Amino acid sequence: MPTTKRVSLDRELAGFVKLAYANAPAVKKIFDDAGVKPGDIKHVADLERVPVTSKDRLAEMQKASPPYGGFLNTKAKRLKHIFLSPGPLYEPHGAEKSLVKTAAQLFRIAGFKRGDVALNTLSYHLVPAGLLLDAGLQAVGATVVPSGVGNTELQVKLMLDLKVNGYAGTPSFLMTIIKKAEEMGLGFKGKFALHHALFTAEPYPPSLRAQFEGVYGLKTLNVYATAELGFLAYDCSAQQGLHFADGVVIQICDPATGKPVASGEAGQVVVTTFNETYPTIRLGTGDLAVYLDAPCACGRKTPRLALVGRVGDAIKVRGMFVHPNQLKAAAAKFPAIARVQGIVTRPDNVRDTLTLKIELAQEVSDREKLGQEFSEAVRGLIRVGVDQVDFVASGGMAADAKGMIDERKWE
Ligand SMILES: [Zn+2]
Repeated sequence: MPTTKRVSLDRELAGFVKLAYANAPAVKKIFDDAGVKPGDIKHVADLERVPVTSKDRLAEMQKASPPYGGFLNTKAKRLKHIFLSPGPLYEPHGAEKSLVKTAAQLFRIAGFKRGDVALNTLSYHLVPAGLLLDAGLQAVGATVVPSGVGNTELQVKLMLDLKVNGYAGTPSFLMTIIKKAEEMGLGFKGKFALHHALFTAEPYPPSLRAQFEGVYGLKTLNVYATAELGFLAYDCSAQQGLHFADGVVIQICDPATGKPVASGEAGQVVVTTFNETYPTIRLGTGDLAVYLDAPCACGRKTPRLALVGRVGDAIKVRGMFVHPNQLKAAAAKFPAIARVQGIVTRPDNVRDTLTLKIELAQEVSDREKLGQEFSEAVRGLIRVGVDQVDFVASGGMAADAKGMIDERKWE
């Protein structure tokens, strides 16, 4: 991140923490219990002294002190909306501008501009997604067609009649609309004005991107967002992780201690947004990611993260969190490997041992060589050395076998 941006983020954070401490009783209690004073937080790095609040903890706090768990800014003049996110979590939205500003930044990067006519297909009720996209689109000057989910034929009609040139929603639903148009004999390419799309709320696999951008000639941007925190990060043409959005403090932290992990290690995505109405400082998203600080091929200097999976599915091996998806990602580069399972044991009660059980897609001439090369690839991704490799023939692993198994005995 350029120095000027880091300095302004530090300054904004320091001011925001003071405001949150003074006006949100839950924030004051979290700081007081941890012995942290708001003035102690001068830089993003100082935040590690503040405990992470998990979504489960937030739900408990809301239950104990309904409806907002003490996080509502007592000075908030008027709430514009109250949402209910999965958890269940009540989420008050007021006059805060930071979430919309970040959303607008990402719509601009996606190519949205004044005069666009955009279909917004995320839900407008109960969850904040639809209205957040709506606000971001309005902020860039686009006209919103709030079409919501479903009604595929009607979506096709709207796109044609209104010359819709932008789409916001999930990638799978846009593909459903395109397929419907083709099914109706309308031939999407050439007939429709659609030019750019902002995708969120579900994974965007490279195969789907190749279809949208290659076959249909669309410009697409994938955005990482959560219901409670809004837009957090976005991908770029280089496809090497997600760039942090402006105006959001993102830390990748050890899920147990809340301390930031080193670059390249897996940790929980912990977020602080400058939401003055509902200041949840250091909210744990439950998402596991790897922090990437090497410069991106696209030229942007902002740090990036690579999402790995959910924290709950990861297992700590010799101090590092290892997620089944990381093993899968390594295996994807070896056509001879069908599936892999990581097994963690502690035979001598001192040191964790990581064994990889590999199911072969086809027999290879040199198992030992494959085992070594694969172990190297895994070590590069998870930063933990592999101690042993066991091979099983094709079909030798149970269909419901877990990606990571913890066989350590703790008694
Ligand atoms: Zn990039």
